[in-house]
Amino acid sequence: MINEHQLRQDMCEIARMMYDKGLICGPAGNISAKLAQGRFLITPSLFFKQRLTPDQLIIVDDQGNKIGTPTPANIDLQPTSETSMHLQTYKNRPDVGGIVHAHPTYCVALSVAGKPIRTQVLTEAMLFLGEIGVADYKTPTTDQLGEEVGRLMRSHDCVLLPYHGVTVAGKDIWEACAKLEVLEQTAEICTLAAQLGGEQPLAQSHVKDMLKLRQRWGLAKPSDHNLLGTKS
Ligand SMILES: [Zn+2]
Repeated sequence: MINEHQLRQDMCEIARMMYDKGLICGPAGNISAKLAQGRFLITPSLFFKQRLTPDQLIIVDDQGNKIGTPTPANIDLQPTSETSMHLQTYKNRPDVGGIVHAHPTYCVALSVAGKPIRTQVLTEAMLFLGEIGVADYKTPTTDQLGEEVGRLMRSHDCVLLPYHGVTVAGKDIWEACAKLEVLEQTAEICTLAAQLGGEQPLAQSHVKDMLKLRQRWGLAKPSDHNLLGTKS
């Protein structure tokens, strides 16, 4: 049973954590959570997320329309301009209950340099993230970006948006937030390893064992095999 009151507080707490960890800055980033009956709780557009209060969060339907009784705090606010990528993900992934979108520095830097985020550099990332989906570049806020993220989310939990940021899905917002943190740490490790002379790739047999563990834990995705046989 989803407790909307608690969810509103949790989303504000996650927004502050994302800001404090430098995963978002300025008005960037957005968070959503699935409610019952085709409704979603989502952050408002162009707003300093670290200052969000629970009553400023907005409820939308599966088309992105603002619904429900407005609060005095959100009556003049609109849902995030990236609502489409959230809704397309929920549509394609019934198992997803929470989504975070952020602009983590190392993830974006790697995309700008044309380098992959290789989860093979960190056991925790291999286990919990699997392969990172890489979106074709699309203009932020457009339905084209929403469709591209939704497409990749069919086979990934984490999608990199080149020159922009990342979108991460979880069974709830806390799981999505945890994956986001691991994702940025992975990108930082990839960057540092490159500066230290390059990655010494983990043996394929060890990668295979991690993928088996991922399967045993019910985390496997169709894209997992892409973690095998690739070079840094
Ligand atoms: Zn963004």
